[in-house]
Amino acid sequence: MALIVQKFGGSSVANIERIENVARKVIASRDAGNQVVVVVSAMKGETDRLTDLAHAAAQTSNPRPRELDLLLSTGETVTIALLTMVLERLGAEARCYTGAQVQILTDSAFSKARIQEIDAEPIREDLGAGRIVVVAGFQGVDENGSITTLGRGGSDTTAVALAAALEADECQIYTDVDGVYTTDPRVVPTARRLDQITFEEMLELASLGSKVLQIRAVEFAGKYQVPLRVLSSFEDGPGTLITMEGEDMQQGSMEEPLIAGIAFSRDEAKLTMLGVPDTPGIAAQILGPIASANIEVDMIVQNISNDGLTDFTFTVQKRDYERAMETLRRLAAELSAREVFGDTSIGKLSLVGVGMRSHAGVASKMFDALAAEGINIQMISTSEIKISVVVEEKYLELGTRALHRAFDLDDESGRTVSVEGQSA
Ligand code: ASP
Ligand code: MG
Repeated sequence: MALIVQKFGGSSVANIERIENVARKVIASRDAGNQVVVVVSAMKGETDRLTDLAHAAAQTSNPRPRELDLLLSTGETVTIALLTMVLERLGAEARCYTGAQVQILTDSAFSKARIQEIDAEPIREDLGAGRIVVVAGFQGVDENGSITTLGRGGSDTTAVALAAALEADECQIYTDVDGVYTTDPRVVPTARRLDQITFEEMLELASLGSKVLQIRAVEFAGKYQVPLRVLSSFEDGPGTLITMEGEDMQQGSMEEPLIAGIAFSRDEAKLTMLGVPDTPGIAAQILGPIASANIEVDMIVQNISNDGLTDFTFTVQKRDYERAMETLRRLAAELSAREVFGDTSIGKLSLVGVGMRSHAGVASKMFDALAAEGINIQMISTSEIKISVVVEEKYLELGTRALHRAFDLDDESGRTVSVEGQSA
């Protein structure tokens, strides 16, 4: 008998009819011989509605955190009670718990609380007695008994944490998409649903994946090695299994998939400082103040030195561009740099896949594909399982499509691409 945690998001429980659809799925899963723990979100739009009410009541966009968390937690409390009533009506024995009742113990960081401990014993007893257990997502309780919430999208984290505490066989996240795709299907209509992907790849594809799953939940699942499956509440299908890299990564194939997917981001800006002295400590002198201003730097490139001078380029998120530029101008004066300039019309394209570790030629194949479309690469950065390039923003979608094609991602048999025989 398998123990499965199933999580249903807000759109899956948007009304009683949909809650009944959820109940039927849960019962089908139990009837197939599983022990089932269900985690639910608030009904669609409810958390936003409660947030608006709080703003109106407090006449500020920052109502008192303790009271705000108590208020927001009610959304999920409503859903667990309703789902349990429907389950009972359909003849299943079920019991529901709030986060405080099962003792999902968190720290006291209201609105972004972290789970510290879960008492899985009462749930195990219920399961042992043949009951379906329904737990409220998103909420917990701190050691003072104050209700806390885990941050937007936090029900995913509740589900994974419960799965870890119960040593569940699988944590299934039901949502309104049917899995994780090779890239954004709105940009590449031939994008393909992945049967499997590793935790590492999923984290690297965060810009795509965060629309599907709370990234913190993926980190958590990876840490505790909880197999995670994303699947649709509305259609039957296998979804996408997010799991450890390993033996049966791809059934029926001898090779590991090369590329899992392509992520792209428009939220990039590039800053350059020309002609800074090429002396020890210069990178720290430039990036230190940027970090102190709480600006996150992504790619960094320092050129080779010429006449004792060097050039320095880095990227930040668009919203941090102005502040980063101000800091850089100030530094340029101090360091007597020749020139400072920036560019906000750039984007980043990333190719992600654990298969890169064991294959040469991925980068050159990527650069060839972009060159064939006349797309100029402005910056390159690589990690073990990712190659990212900065290009002009207007070429982002064209580039994504070109790479999707070049790496045969839209071909059903295409996850295994041979690049042998290419120069590395
Ligand atoms: N109801 C919360 C939200 O809307 C938590 C969740 O749905 O995961 O963010
Ligand atoms: Mg959600």
